Amino acid sequence: MPELPEVESVRRSIAPRVEGARVAAITLHRADIVTGRAAPADLLEGDEIRATARRGKQLALLSAGGRVVIVHLGMSGQLLWLPANTPPKRADHIHARWTLANDRGVVIFRDPRRFGGLWTLPTRDALDAHWSSLGPDALAISAVDLARACAGTRRAIKSVLLDQRVLAGVGNIYADEALFASGIHPLRRASALSEAEIDTLAARVRAVLAAAIDAGGSTRRDYVNAEGEAGGFQSRHAVYGRGGEACVVCKVALREAQVGQRTTVWCDRCQPRTRRAGRPRCGLTLHRLVQVWMNTETSR
Ligand SMILES: [Zn+2]
Repeated sequence: MPELPEVESVRRSIAPRVEGARVAAITLHRADIVTGRAAPADLLEGDEIRATARRGKQLALLSAGGRVVIVHLGMSGQLLWLPANTPPKRADHIHARWTLANDRGVVIFRDPRRFGGLWTLPTRDALDAHWSSLGPDALAISAVDLARACAGTRRAIKSVLLDQRVLAGVGNIYADEALFASGIHPLRRASALSEAEIDTLAARVRAVLAAAIDAGGSTRRDYVNAEGEAGGFQSRHAVYGRGGEACVVCKVALREAQVGQRTTVWCDRCQPRTRRAGRPRCGLTLHRLVQVWMNTETSR
């Protein structure tokens, strides 16, 4: 499922293709993927795409006329750009097609599993209101914001990180990676984390997201950017998808269990269930962890 780094990679790859382009025509193959009005003008026909924006896992196309189309990639959604006059390689599961004027190409939204969709909004103010239900963007999460999200809750820290209302953009992959990098057990009660642990966690959420964006995101199943390119971060996951394999730090077998109905992987030795005094001790310096994430770590 695309998380913040994947959606940001789509945004960065689609932006130069669509910004400043006029939408000559929109073809909607399935009206039920649209939430909100679904007339051609609501989907930007006749308008110019002025800019792209992102909050958490949501991507928005902003028009010169003020209208907004939000793209939710859901589980398997793809926003793809194709050169003008080239038929799409895979014609299946394409739900919407924007033809850009002046041979600027075609943008298609395809989504085999249809957990994603398009949201239409009439104004930028409506977008601000829509996004006000989301927490701060995880790429810039501060320790103060994270502390506020953790205070007074009985929930596990893993569940807090996945809650888009308190922190927008983190999903299962990057929650597990950031908790491992912070030496924090995913089932620790969020309100029991120390200030030092929250400082560390906020910094490592930002670091893993930035490293993943640099790698073009993680491709598990369907994810590709707007140019159809898969991400490269999946080979650098320290814990996600590696249950039962050796911890990259201590070599103990990684644990795997369901937390809030999500498969969660952690190291019992590097991420103890009980709180330690002082700064969390992950056993892995941020410098070495970034080496793992950047795939320059030779010991794996
Ligand atoms: Zn370990």
